[in-house]
Amino acid sequence: MPIKVHDQMLRSTVVLETRDPGRIAMYVCGPTVYNLIHIGNARTFLWFDFIRRYFLYRGWQVTYVMNYTDVDDRIIERAGVEGVPADAVTSKYSKAFEDDMAALGVNPADIICRATDHVEDMVEAIDGLVERGSAYESDGDVFFSIESFDAYGKLSGRTLEDMRAGERIEPQAGKRHPLDFALWKSAKEGEPSWPSPWGPGRPGWHIECSVMSTKYLGMGFDIHGGASDLTFPHHENEIAQAEALAGAGPFVRFWMHAGLVQMESQKMSKSLGNVVLVRDVVARYPGEVARYWALAGSYRTQLTFSDGVLDDSAQAYDRWSTFLAAARHALGGDMPATPAATRPADAEPPEGPGGEYVQRFTDTLDDDFNSSGAFAVVHDLVREANRCVEGAQRGPGEDRNLLIAFTETFLELTSVMGFRFDAATGSDELTARLIDYLLELREGARRNKEFAAADGIRDRLESFGVSIEDTPVGPRWRLGTPPAAA
Ligand SMILES: [Zn+2]
Repeated sequence: MPIKVHDQMLRSTVVLETRDPGRIAMYVCGPTVYNLIHIGNARTFLWFDFIRRYFLYRGWQVTYVMNYTDVDDRIIERAGVEGVPADAVTSKYSKAFEDDMAALGVNPADIICRATDHVEDMVEAIDGLVERGSAYESDGDVFFSIESFDAYGKLSGRTLEDMRAGERIEPQAGKRHPLDFALWKSAKEGEPSWPSPWGPGRPGWHIECSVMSTKYLGMGFDIHGGASDLTFPHHENEIAQAEALAGAGPFVRFWMHAGLVQMESQKMSKSLGNVVLVRDVVARYPGEVARYWALAGSYRTQLTFSDGVLDDSAQAYDRWSTFLAAARHALGGDMPATPAATRPADAEPPEGPGGEYVQRFTDTLDDDFNSSGAFAVVHDLVREANRCVEGAQRGPGEDRNLLIAFTETFLELTSVMGFRFDAATGSDELTARLIDYLLELREGARRNKEFAAADGIRDRLESFGVSIEDTPVGPRWRLGTPPAAA
């Protein structure tokens, strides 16, 4: 089955036909590096991380480009507030962004491009736009003339009248049309600036993305992603710049937008100013729980954030880690590693007991990344696999073989989703052996009717976050999710 994606330009779900067969060139608008990112920003980056992982899993070659906006009014403002140069602000918050992404298990893009490293390219593009009559200079600033670009509004589906009414943009001195936007801003005293034919200044925000994306991916690249609030004006402006400069389109083959995150509780907005930082979330929940929350619903929907929904995600995620700990305990040295599997669409159908789950997983994700379906497949797999655990614990036989196969499939599917179960449970080999050994001591104490000693071992283990369940075939343990701080 071919992969289908929802294209914002067509407003429908269509087969993903790429410029070059088997290859995907994708660009996602990255952060403006002037503050700590919130969980709403993170959802977009988690999603495109997942989308990239899925393409790779399906056997595509992916080039993923992301920008860091490191020249912007907000950066200059922040530098003033912190009393430091602008580049101190941007290096501090680039690093913070990377730390937050690492905490969520988001892999860096293949190419990360910083606006300030590409100002010459942008000056050249702006110069080209002026030459073609798509842009004009006014007192050291350069504006894009939206009336020069007939297709302006095609992505967001708005007419000029809609935009003018909706955005309430005030006319600005020097602009020919109120919606004309700045490609180049003349420098004010003390601001970072670069030389240009129009005098010292800095590029506008929109021009950096069209220039850097086409520099690394060429015109007509496959996927341009970002949060849905970038559709207008940012992505609309990128299209106008790129297609006006090239003299033809399309700039991008498929536009994919991630839905926004809505805050639920009034309480949260009071104490945290209506934004919840990634940092605050990962201090209270494992990064995997935030990932679970972000990916379990379709990328296109608006998602609500609250402590309650994170608790729900923690519980659901816990069912997976509980299963894995049980499997690890039952299988011991037969525990499979995460397979480095790829499942290209034209490959043989997956075999073995887990094959049916792999098939369902790819079928649902091929359909515009229907992740809620994919999460349901993994839960179904875990339910079936759990039924084999007790039998597997008794020794060789059918249940044990099934459990090995199901566990391997579980690791395959969850690693495509970006979960790191090998590391996430924290039960590396030595930890697992030590816990098993302590439980043997506890069993010995119980056999000798030394119940106080047995309970003591249990209490101590539980105080370390190891929860123990006694089953007919012996105790089972797992490392629990750290309790959420009050
Ligand atoms: Zn952008």
